[in-house]
Amino acid sequence: MNKIEIKDCPICGHSSFIDIFKCRDNTVSGELFQLVECRDCGFRFTSPRPADEHLGEYYKSDTYISHSDTDEGLTNKVYKRVRDFSLKIKYNLVRKYSKDKNGNLLDVGAGTGYFVNFCNRNGMQAEGFEPDSDARNVAKTTHGITLIDNWEKINKNFDVITMWHVLEHVPDLKNQFERLKAILKLNGILIIAVPNRESFDEKYYKSDWAAYDVPRHLYHFRKNDLIKLASDFNIKFVDDKPMWFDAPYVSILSEKHKKSYMATIKGSIFGMISNLASLFTNQQSSKIYIFRNGK
Ligand SMILES: [Zn+2]
Repeated sequence: MNKIEIKDCPICGHSSFIDIFKCRDNTVSGELFQLVECRDCGFRFTSPRPADEHLGEYYKSDTYISHSDTDEGLTNKVYKRVRDFSLKIKYNLVRKYSKDKNGNLLDVGAGTGYFVNFCNRNGMQAEGFEPDSDARNVAKTTHGITLIDNWEKINKNFDVITMWHVLEHVPDLKNQFERLKAILKLNGILIIAVPNRESFDEKYYKSDWAAYDVPRHLYHFRKNDLIKLASDFNIKFVDDKPMWFDAPYVSILSEKHKKSYMATIKGSIFGMISNLASLFTNQQSSKIYIFRNGK
């Protein structure tokens, strides 16, 4: 497999890194991937990683439930309940920060279109961008939505852009922010949800932490990494919010990676512990960051 080593820190440009540990791809390939940390800014990322043209091969799994719609297994059932409730929370968050209550929204990495559909049903003008054709087909058959398949086809500016657990998958971060900047209205809202590697569940599971999800997750953000990245484009940090459901979900998967006895029960309990700990640290397993576009 053709792998590329990242030579410059994607956030600060520094070129000296510390090896942290190797994580296993437990979903598709079983391969090990090294995580490194920038000596200057502390940003952690997957390197070496598969070349861009090979990344798609690491998404080919029935259990990669962000894109699939199987009804098997307790985890998937719980996931679906949580997803429906999460849609409401995400939508309410958009409405809270967006000044124009009937504004238009672009969901980047829209997956199977659930959020776009939810926003449209509640009066927003929502569209979605999704590069994966299988996911787009599911969006079409499930919700009757045609998601945008090519970034070049996006031909207007948006009041709100959302990226729910997407940015950690995007190969070129600065290029992505340039693209976002170009289609976000002045004072428009950018909402980014990503796993938080400063969470209690990361500290407990370390290389088994399921939210490392190598090599699909290329970047492993902290709050300050995102603030620095966005500020280079004059996109200003406004607020951050917890995502409470990710801790149990990620902890259950992490226990499964460890092949623990009673993984679901153990993971559920540890997820609750992680959430309780975050009441003191504000470091949940995943977080939502809200930004506003400056000039
Ligand atoms: Zn750096």
